[in-house]
Amino acid sequence: MPAPPPPAQPLGRSLIPLPDESLPGFVLRLAHRLELPPARIAALAGLPAAGSNSSRPLAHAMLTLDPHVTARFAQVTRLNPEEVAGLCMDRYASRYPALDLTTRSPVPRVMAISRRGWVLMHSTRYCPQCLAGDGSLIQQRHGGPWQQRWRLQVVFACTTHQRLLEHQCHRCGTPALLSRSGSNVTLLPRANDKDLHPAQCRSHTSGPCERPAPAICGARLDTPAVLTPPLPPGLLRLQDQILERLEPAGPVPPARAQEYFRLLSLVHNLIMLSWPRARHLAGPEQFATAAGTHVATARQAVEQAKAAAAARPFTFTEIHPPMRKLPLACDACAGLLLAADTLLGWDDPAGLPDRLMPLTQAAALDPQAWYWLRTHPAWPPAVRRSFLPHLKGFTIPARRTGRPLISPRQCQFQPENVPQRLPSTWSDRHLAHLTGISSKHLHRAAALKLVELASGHPWSQAAELLRLPRRNAELAVFSTRRWMRDDRNQEAFDHAIEALASELDAISPHVNYVIRRRAIQTWAMPDAHWQGFFHELETQTTHGRGRRHTISERRRQVISVLIWTHITHSEHLFAPAVLADKAHATAPGTARLAAQACEVLRNNNGYTALRTIINDYAGNLARNIDRTGTADNFNWNPPTPLTTQPAPRDQRHRNALCRKPRS
Ligand SMILES: [Zn+2]
Ligand SMILES: [Zn+2]
Repeated sequence: MPAPPPPAQPLGRSLIPLPDESLPGFVLRLAHRLELPPARIAALAGLPAAGSNSSRPLAHAMLTLDPHVTARFAQVTRLNPEEVAGLCMDRYASRYPALDLTTRSPVPRVMAISRRGWVLMHSTRYCPQCLAGDGSLIQQRHGGPWQQRWRLQVVFACTTHQRLLEHQCHRCGTPALLSRSGSNVTLLPRANDKDLHPAQCRSHTSGPCERPAPAICGARLDTPAVLTPPLPPGLLRLQDQILERLEPAGPVPPARAQEYFRLLSLVHNLIMLSWPRARHLAGPEQFATAAGTHVATARQAVEQAKAAAAARPFTFTEIHPPMRKLPLACDACAGLLLAADTLLGWDDPAGLPDRLMPLTQAAALDPQAWYWLRTHPAWPPAVRRSFLPHLKGFTIPARRTGRPLISPRQCQFQPENVPQRLPSTWSDRHLAHLTGISSKHLHRAAALKLVELASGHPWSQAAELLRLPRRNAELAVFSTRRWMRDDRNQEAFDHAIEALASELDAISPHVNYVIRRRAIQTWAMPDAHWQGFFHELETQTTHGRGRRHTISERRRQVISVLIWTHITHSEHLFAPAVLADKAHATAPGTARLAAQACEVLRNNNGYTALRTIINDYAGNLARNIDRTGTADNFNWNPPTPLTTQPAPRDQRHRNALCRKPRS
């Protein structure tokens, strides 16, 4: 059981926190003022330690404090709770997605944030001039603030002193305030040393386990050896804008800031994968060179991780992180962020897909990384659409990753509004001029492609939705792909599909063909309707001139298929009754339902009257289904005869149902 903390007694003296001061920075300054070890201050103030026998405070305290710790810290340090809360970085969390504090337990939270590489948990950057203080007596004695924002890796410069930040000690080269204790990240290095000034390097210059106690570097980080050149104006402007987005009480809404940093991170990843495509955007030569060096190091780290994991299965998330992290060094970081911000072009979101396109080909050379990046849900839909891979006109099926599908086009229609058989007026207008491919395959491929445009589903799933048998869909897609080996054909196909999609866009209200198909899946014309239908047919074809027709079950089936075809806007070949007839045929060529239906559909001269009645019946039934979702309770009244004159003799004699069907 951990030892109970000592009773909370207010310290004899305290300090007023400085603007943006971090918790470890405040503890350092207060410890220096009271001439106590920082670990002692942390323990008195109730900060969580690395273990029951350890006095080293843990790093997660700098992210957020529990209310009871906040209260005790405030009591001991004579601050109010708001001032204590202001020392923690969670005040940036609503704007900076890398500060994800949703992981339940604190230690894994620190490790997860650190692994993402956009927040420094093990060390910090710093501005030597800020650390030197503002010249006031208190800051002359105990130094200026170690700022919270220096740990957010998008902060690479001090805009007050117009210079890049430092990330390591100028004498020993160790990252500033590098702190670690076993598997835990600690709040401060050498927390038990009470003799160091807050601005002194606390690194060991020899191994930490050496006996007697290892030597400490002790260099003053507020007095750098080399003066840095002033920051180029473009980078200064970028840093200003980034700080404005981070500012907890700033004018940028938190959600907009989150969106900006999320996209900045994705574009940075794309730049890393496609380097040196965006090198020209990385600022002056010093910055572009530093960025290039960082990319090379990150790629090497990925290769080494792959080689180390070669003997065992490894996951992408294990191998790829170096390509997603921001560099520790500020010049490389500034170059990469400038390139990312320029490509992101926050004021021109519509142009983003075009700006990113030149990088995508190079990024795709690492298929695993590219797949992860291009399918990331944080991209705007237009960008994800532009990233979709195409294999001769059709989207490559997505892997089963659980990521949401993205439709390749912003359609005004849903996939269920696409008819299996396109209206002949549309195909005449947009597909008839395409030659060198069977029109049957072309029309089916066009319907599949329209479903893909509306849903993002690959053709196999589009075929299921359209109730197009897989074998027929496959033949259509493969034939179309073969035909599109000629780039001119692909261009013409894409053009035609866009025109067809525009036709569908313009329809209002849209028809839900999925509901229609479901409603009459097993439908056949009811007996009561069939009597009336046949009577009407006789009336219109003979006009009382004495010719009578026998009513047969086969004829009812044929007419039912034709009505199904009309209502579902599908090919008669794929009507459930036709498929069943084919399946039950005893020998090849004995399935006749399809042929009989085809005869009526294709013969332009003999079936006008029949088609008129079918159109009337099917139109009424379709409206009933659209209204009620079912074919039940449908009442049909035969239409008024269209003509009082006898039909021409040759037409009368070609009534489909009076002929002996061809086998
Ligand atoms: Zn500064
Ligand atoms: Zn040092």
